Amino acid sequence: MNSVFPIDEISGKRSRPEIILIFGSALAVIAIVSIVTSLLIRERASARDFAARSATNIVQLIDADVQRNTELYDTSLQGMITSWQRPEVRNLTPQMRQLVLFDRSTAAPYKGELLLIDKNGDILADSLSVIPRTVNLSDRAHFRAHRDNPDLDLLISDPFKLHTGYRDWCISFSRRMSAPNGEFMGIASGAMRLIYFKELFKSLNIGRDSNVNLISTHGFLLARQPDTELKDLIGEDFSQKPNFKRFLQEGNGTFISISSLDNKERMYTFSTVGNLPLIVVVGQSLEEVYAIWLRNTWLVVSATGVLCLGILWLTFLLCRELSLRRKAEYELAELAATDSLTGLANRRRLDQVLKAEWARGLRSGKPMSLLMIDVDHFKLFNDRHGHHGGDEALRNVATAIQQRIRRPGDLAARYGGEEFSVVLAETPLNGAIVIAEAIRAGIEALPRFASDDLPITVSIGIASQLSQPSATLSGLIGAADKALYQAKRKGRNRVECSVSATFSALPVPGEAT
Ligand code: GH3
Ligand code: MG
Ligand code: MG
Repeated sequence: MNSVFPIDEISGKRSRPEIILIFGSALAVIAIVSIVTSLLIRERASARDFAARSATNIVQLIDADVQRNTELYDTSLQGMITSWQRPEVRNLTPQMRQLVLFDRSTAAPYKGELLLIDKNGDILADSLSVIPRTVNLSDRAHFRAHRDNPDLDLLISDPFKLHTGYRDWCISFSRRMSAPNGEFMGIASGAMRLIYFKELFKSLNIGRDSNVNLISTHGFLLARQPDTELKDLIGEDFSQKPNFKRFLQEGNGTFISISSLDNKERMYTFSTVGNLPLIVVVGQSLEEVYAIWLRNTWLVVSATGVLCLGILWLTFLLCRELSLRRKAEYELAELAATDSLTGLANRRRLDQVLKAEWARGLRSGKPMSLLMIDVDHFKLFNDRHGHHGGDEALRNVATAIQQRIRRPGDLAARYGGEEFSVVLAETPLNGAIVIAEAIRAGIEALPRFASDDLPITVSIGIASQLSQPSATLSGLIGAADKALYQAKRKGRNRVECSVSATFSALPVPGEAT
């Protein structure tokens, strides 16, 4: 048996509270995800800024240290020149001269040789040996530069590799020695071993996968910490690498790029060292830069994910509960509206639908029709088959009626006893007659109950909603009732219409005329 409610009342349509709940939860989840995402993006930028700041501090530290050393070298050179220009110093024994000219600090491991060179390029005094070496250095670039240009101050050379002594990478500082009349008297020069930077870099904590590099402005790698395991890179030419070109071009700054050595993405922070031809580069591995952020991100994402899943799960549970409640309410309402014997709508539901369709008919101007159906001689049927048989027959009649109603707005109901009603929404009289006749014929054609001699038949009275404003619903029911009694009077098993209608009854098969 079909439901006594229209289909849209029982469909899976979500109720208003369910929609509000789903919408609210979705909004909460979107808000949480957006807030967390924006916070994480900000945190990532902070991690990057923090790493860049740390690297800049390292670079500045190195820069300051180198500048201080440069000043020390310059002071030493000026001291050497002033001392040498005093005749009493020149006349000292070589051992004493060595002590006066060269500070004890020149013995520090990273300090290279300090030399006084005469105007011909021969060594006058040498910090590394009491008896000066017999080497002519007049062809050296810095010697020639001072000889040819009296206005040159402190001159810092390009990095070069020593072929004697320590045999490692150095840069040299030099000053001109001039006679009181400005004549060129030679130069004082001091070398700085670049191993000094390696010692300096070692003392810095830069991270396991990061490195500090010292590169000459010509592109040669001079010092690196930690040493790469791949190969000894000191002295390697990087002048054609895109990253180096950027260091040279920008002077100082920070950027993220792929390392040409290990193809890892790194954040490079770099600066030219004072006015030296050197660039310090700190290359931080991005993995390290974002390591803490990544760990926190996993934690936050997991917690947020659990929170959002929790909200969605609770929403699902609540929706399910609401839906179950809606279904239970519907089932209760349906139970309260259903006739327990036949499964058709009961009298209460019939009254509701009649009122609703009546009002709708008035609004739309499309008339509704009402059929009143009464089983013929049912008292006698009960007498023949007992009440149990009678109940069975009523169920069969109900099914036959229900089967002939197809529109969703139509309703078949048990009016009471062996009487039924059918509400035909938006159906004029002639359409109602066709359905009524189908019902009548269908019931007559039902299989005989327990080999009964007589078929079960019904009489049907029809009334249609009239267009006059004075018409009332009770008038319609009364008119249908009247038509039914007319059918009974005319011999039963037939369809009759309300007298106020313009319809004349269809001839009923088998009816005596
Ligand atoms: P008529 O053709 O004039 O309608 O004759 P009738 O015998 O059907 O009319 P009447 O109103 O005198 O009798 C109706 C009978 O329907 C009375 C009652 O025994 C029977 N009846 C009413 N409700 C039920 C029911 O729920 N179950 C059964 N078995 N019989 C019912
Ligand atoms: Mg009756
Ligand atoms: Mg009857």
